[in-house]
Amino acid sequence: MSMVRFKYLLSWVSWPALMIICMAIADYGFTHDQPFLFFNLAYLFLILAVFFLERFMPHEREWEAPDGQTLSSILHTLSSKGTVQGILIFGGVIGLAELITPVTEQGYSIWPRDWPMWAQVVLGVVSAEFGLYWAHRFAHRIEFFWNFHAIHHSVTKLWFVNTGRFHFVDSLVSIVLGLSILLAMGAPMEIVQWLSAITAFIGMLTHCNVEMRFGPISWVFNTPELHRWHHSQDLREGNKNYSENVMIWDWIFFSYFKENRRPPVDIGVKEVMPPKFRHQIMWPFLSDEQKKKIAPTHVPVPFE
Ligand SMILES: [Zn+2]
Ligand SMILES: [Zn+2]
Repeated sequence: MSMVRFKYLLSWVSWPALMIICMAIADYGFTHDQPFLFFNLAYLFLILAVFFLERFMPHEREWEAPDGQTLSSILHTLSSKGTVQGILIFGGVIGLAELITPVTEQGYSIWPRDWPMWAQVVLGVVSAEFGLYWAHRFAHRIEFFWNFHAIHHSVTKLWFVNTGRFHFVDSLVSIVLGLSILLAMGAPMEIVQWLSAITAFIGMLTHCNVEMRFGPISWVFNTPELHRWHHSQDLREGNKNYSENVMIWDWIFFSYFKENRRPPVDIGVKEVMPPKFRHQIMWPFLSDEQKKKIAPTHVPVPFE
């Protein structure tokens, strides 16, 4: 088989194969009482696989050049992950965590604990997606929230390092909206853990710079081809595909977008974003004068 043919086959196989492998590793962890260990193993495997594939068959050659944002993106990942951990501990302190019990224990509310696990996972992913979808749509349509979300969109290339690049306030809003739906429905602990795992796997793949093909997979799941449109500077393309894992709410609320041409290479935001992490963290809280002191080229951009 020629290399071209091999890469072509791999472009069809890699997304479903990586998802199936990661889900199988996570499932082994759940059934053997080691969910955290095996989730981390699956995630590590995914990082290595994507790292290799980005070099072997990149989607955009232009996105291979360094953009000076690697450290900043890693620091955003750590600070937003830290905030989410903090929320979970705070949830424990105020007693919310006691509402989330294992599936084998008595629950409350409408959650169907007697359903097969896979069906409960599907229900959990689709229900939480409603909150995640609206958190993301608000982040684009309401100026206050956009100021935080702009940090995620300020990168000029997509690759796996951007996966967790969110201002911690941005992450906080999505977590609260996504989780409170599951909490209100009385979802068991396993569902919350499965949702976190699936969101981590799909998120890593949506930002990767790997040449992949999807066909009908993109009708159902959030894939790199859909998310590349979401990073477009043209708002007819960028204010679309808000879903995080499954595309259901984009279909229902008319924001699904996919066309048969290449998504733009030239991505980013119209406003000036300072390159340093500590300035980016402060950015949404600063006045125009304060912003000008840090970035002299800053001009207020009218919100569309
Ligand atoms: Zn966005
Ligand atoms: Zn993104």
